[in-house]
Amino acid sequence: MSETKVFDAAAATELVKELRGSFGSGNTRSYEWRVAQLESLLKLSVDHEEDICDALRSDLSKPALESVIHEISMVKSSCKLALKELRNWMTPEKVQTTITSFPSSAAIVPEPLGVVLIISAWNYPFYLSLDPVVGAIAAGNAVVLKPSEISPATASLIAKLLEKYLDTSAVKVVEGGIPETSALLEQKWDKIFYTGNGRVGRIVMAAAAKHLTPVVLELGGKSPVVVDSKINLQVACRRIISGKWGGNNGQACVSPDYIITTKEFAPKLVESLKQELERFYGKNPLESKDISRIVNASHFNRLTKLLDDDEVSSKIVHGGEKDKTKLQIAPTLLLDVPRDSLIMTEEIFGPLLPIITVDKLEDSFEIVNSGSKPLAAYLFTNNKKLKEQFVACISAGGVVINDTTLHLAVSTLPFGGVGESGMGSCHGKFSFDAFSHKKAVLYRSFVGDVPMRYPPYTNGKLRF
Ligand code: NAD
Repeated sequence: MSETKVFDAAAATELVKELRGSFGSGNTRSYEWRVAQLESLLKLSVDHEEDICDALRSDLSKPALESVIHEISMVKSSCKLALKELRNWMTPEKVQTTITSFPSSAAIVPEPLGVVLIISAWNYPFYLSLDPVVGAIAAGNAVVLKPSEISPATASLIAKLLEKYLDTSAVKVVEGGIPETSALLEQKWDKIFYTGNGRVGRIVMAAAAKHLTPVVLELGGKSPVVVDSKINLQVACRRIISGKWGGNNGQACVSPDYIITTKEFAPKLVESLKQELERFYGKNPLESKDISRIVNASHFNRLTKLLDDDEVSSKIVHGGEKDKTKLQIAPTLLLDVPRDSLIMTEEIFGPLLPIITVDKLEDSFEIVNSGSKPLAAYLFTNNKKLKEQFVACISAGGVVINDTTLHLAVSTLPFGGVGESGMGSCHGKFSFDAFSHKKAVLYRSFVGDVPMRYPPYTNGKLRF
């Protein structure tokens, strides 16, 4: 009978020791090693597209198109960008010096941090695991990846593929849940990159604090969508639906969490959303193949609990149907739910979309700013002044005007939260930076030595 190996604190210590040895050898620092790993990651994503889609279908019933566009292509783009830009990113940045150090030259030299830990979440399990790995490798680190146990098919496929394609002396995958993550968190890391909810974010940060380890926390929150009336309503509704239900059935960190619009405009908005929803998912969305399921029974129960409150369920204006055996909840719109209800105070992370109404759209600013800072904030309007006010007055990880969620596909923009929605950022060069230390280097020669800086500190020197 074969014995299953337990991944405990001793195993975690051994793992980190091995990776410290690999990092210490200097292999991971070379341009060639980084390029070889990035090319292999790219190849893995190309060679195994079908397997990855199968795993995502098994974990989330994710439609293949969403798997390809939102996960596999995103990882491929990250690899390609890193391969194209790596030389530039690694090149020291020359900076000006000041009179104090004259004559001298100076540079900011990016150096790898060392051995880093990446803990990822279940909702985009392929992308959220491998995108930070791209950054960590590009920056020349040794890496441990801990994918989420809530999406086990993708986690085990990632473990199998990384072992086959990458340098296993410097890149490791640890599968498992809380015990395994806790064992890893006891170790000293040079950076921890965590994606998930804020409660666990606090556990990660507390563990990191014991070793003064810096962290990136990619968390969530309630991302609002403010909708003005003089807009192209059909396009706006399609973009809201695509960001909400077309993004893993609302189980996305930047998913529209709630809408704010005026009392006067709300009926028109609801009507248009209903029409477009029916166009996308048919009359019986529970049967649609184009929408992911809720990840598991525990999240299904959490979501149905949000509707348990009579004051909330009585506000359903569309949808509300559910099928526990299939873990499906239909796209659901709610109009004017109480602001203090659970659905308006917790991140929804599912297919329910409440709509809050206000007298004037400007009142939405106070509603958004009265809560925790969201990961994303969206505004649909043609009004230039409103756009300016929104960008200036709403504090959020990112803002999109006249669309939803798309900013995360723009690699020239940093992706990350603020306040309760997280700290630090990633994507493109920002991921490289997240896993690098920017070392300040000053070059001097032996000429131009100024005696004034040395003792004895005479009065004459002071008066100079
Ligand atoms: P999850 O349950 O997969 O947990 C995330 C990771 O934390 C997993 O690897 C898990 O094993 C680990 N974990 C769970 N409990 C732990 C504990 N007690 N101690 C140590 N480790 C533990 O994912 P989740 O938290 O349900 O993810 C959803 C949340 O993540 C939402 O709030 C969402 O907005 C946020 N999110 C943010 C981003 C982003 O990029 N900002 C992306 C995806 C999800």
